[in-house]
Amino acid sequence: MPSTRSHINVQDHNLTIGGIDTVSLAQEYGTPLYVTDEERLRENFRRFASAFSDADIYFAAKANWNLAILRILASEGAGADVFSDGELYVALLAGISPDKILFNGNSKTAHELQMAIDAGVRVSADSLHELRTLSRLATESDRTVDIAFRVNPDVSPDTHPKIATGLAASKFGIGYRDVLAAYSEAAKLPGINPVGIHCHIGSQILDVSPFGEAAERMMDLVEQITRLGIDLTFVDLGGGLGIPYAAEMTAPTPNDLTDMILPIFEERSRAIGISPRLILEPGRYIAGDAGILLTGVNTVKRAAKNFVGVDAGLNLLIRPAMYDAYHEVVVANKADQDPEETYEIVGPICESGDIIARDRRLPPIEPGDVVAVLDTGAYGFSMSSRYNGRVRCAEVLVNRGGVDVIRRREDYGDLIAKDVVPARLLR
Ligand SMILES: *Cc1c(COP(=O)(O)O)cnc(C)c1O
Repeated sequence: MPSTRSHINVQDHNLTIGGIDTVSLAQEYGTPLYVTDEERLRENFRRFASAFSDADIYFAAKANWNLAILRILASEGAGADVFSDGELYVALLAGISPDKILFNGNSKTAHELQMAIDAGVRVSADSLHELRTLSRLATESDRTVDIAFRVNPDVSPDTHPKIATGLAASKFGIGYRDVLAAYSEAAKLPGINPVGIHCHIGSQILDVSPFGEAAERMMDLVEQITRLGIDLTFVDLGGGLGIPYAAEMTAPTPNDLTDMILPIFEERSRAIGISPRLILEPGRYIAGDAGILLTGVNTVKRAAKNFVGVDAGLNLLIRPAMYDAYHEVVVANKADQDPEETYEIVGPICESGDIIARDRRLPPIEPGDVVAVLDTGAYGFSMSSRYNGRVRCAEVLVNRGGVDVIRRREDYGDLIAKDVVPARLLR
């Protein structure tokens, strides 16, 4: 077990999270089951926030927008980066103050923009079309909206291509060379107050140098925008700090990130003669290792591979199929046993790509065992679906010996809750 996960341990043969036996959790609440350790979530947030004591930390809601999770982070002082009307709705409901929310998105609807205006949250504008719509809506509502532009800084972090978002060819943001013209236009538009600048270069980034490169390029822009006579009150450098999913991976810490970007941000701000606020938007770093997914073994089959059929698949955890992501797996009820065989852990979904873990050396597995998939607190449940007519599983929160359900398991009624059969088909 990698020593970085101090909340995950082994006791009486079984895997524990936050001191709670995962096998008992599986028995009591059934599998599949998402489990979050509240203490770990809080510690992750505090570790990040203390590395950036002068910055505002906006949790990227898309990583995990469970209401209880957002409420915990709100109580720690987190703001939120939201990417849709739904995420805004949940973030506000969780008690995150509107003045600590940034509404992002590359293709926002007029409805979403109006919702941002009504809630009084800032908007990170992704195009000039969006800016003009926002200006019109704000003017009609007799309001002024504080905005940033999402800038494409054109830096290439070494991460999976599907989660690199700051390349020149990315769909996100205003092209680097078009940024000044965008601010000039924003400064003239009624109902628009350009107060910030925003970028996010990608996710699961394990080398901090691209963050430094992005910070430099952003501060170049800040300097030029300031010369236009526009006062920027915040610089948001996004999220993206990676975590060590595999034992042999090493990941930078929030302090490494601070060391990389803070000197650039501070020195450049001083040289320009301004003192904007720094904002960061971690998602994965805060929630990723705080959660695990418990999944029960249905079948074991020797075929081309040694297939272990479990009850959670890409319906509940799409990262392996979508990003070729690696998640460590542990046989929760045999956590102290030595590996003996090589297994392919596969889900129950009718897709050959529904593989949770490939070629893993594990103790002998039998039906009825419980497999724990680690580091699923970010981009796990939040990316789940009901594909194949499978209901979403429950989520529980463990906290110093206690267990709370934070999302009930769905039922068949949820599968068809919004379906409508026209009356003529009922005759
Ligand atoms: C996804 C996203 C984040 C969070 O990324 P992590 O890799 O989870 O830290 C932050 N900001 C924006 C705009 C995003 O789209």
